[in-house]
Amino acid sequence: MKTNQLIKLSILFFLALSTNSCSDSADLANQEEEISEVVGYPNVDEELWPYFEKFEIEGKQEGWDIDLVKEGITGTIAEIEENNVLGQCSFNRANPNHVMIDKTFWSTASDRFKEFVVFHELGHCFLLRDHLEDVNVNGTCVSIMRSGTGFCRDNYTAFTRENYIDELFDRDRFNDINF
Ligand SMILES: [Zn+2]
Repeated sequence: MKTNQLIKLSILFFLALSTNSCSDSADLANQEEEISEVVGYPNVDEELWPYFEKFEIEGKQEGWDIDLVKEGITGTIAEIEENNVLGQCSFNRANPNHVMIDKTFWSTASDRFKEFVVFHELGHCFLLRDHLEDVNVNGTCVSIMRSGTGFCRDNYTAFTRENYIDELFDRDRFNDINF
C-alpha cells in the first residue's frame, strides 16, 4: 500500500512540475497551435466523421447548439454479433456515450442508409431520444427513431429527408428516453 501511495504522489509531482515548466509564453503559443491543428472527432472512427459533421450541420439549422467534439461522444465500426442490429448507442455514467455501427452493414450500405443509421444512433446518444414506432397513414415510419421491430416501413429518401430531420430534432422529443 505504502509503495503505491508513493508512486501516485511522485506522478502527481511530475505532472505539477511539467505543467509549471510549460507556462512561459513561447510554449503556450506552441500548445495553442497544436490544438488548432486538431481536426475531426477524437475517438470516433474516421469513416463516421462526415456523418457526425452532417448531424451537427443539420442540428444547427434546426436551432440546436451542437458540438459533438465537446460532447465527447465516441464511435466505432465493429461487428455487432446480434442479428439485424445495424447500430447501437451505449450510455455510460462514467464515460461519454458511445456509438457502434455494424461493420458488415457499413461495408455495403449506401451513403443515405449510413446517414440514417448514424443519425438514429446520435438521436439516442446526443438527443437522448427513445424509439418511436408511429406509422403514417401510408404505412411509412413517422420517425427515423423507429426501432426496426415495429410495423412501419422506412422511407428515408431525398424527398423525405428534410421532414425526417425536422422530426429528429423536435425539441418536444428531446430526452424522452427512459433510463
Ligand atoms: Zn435505436
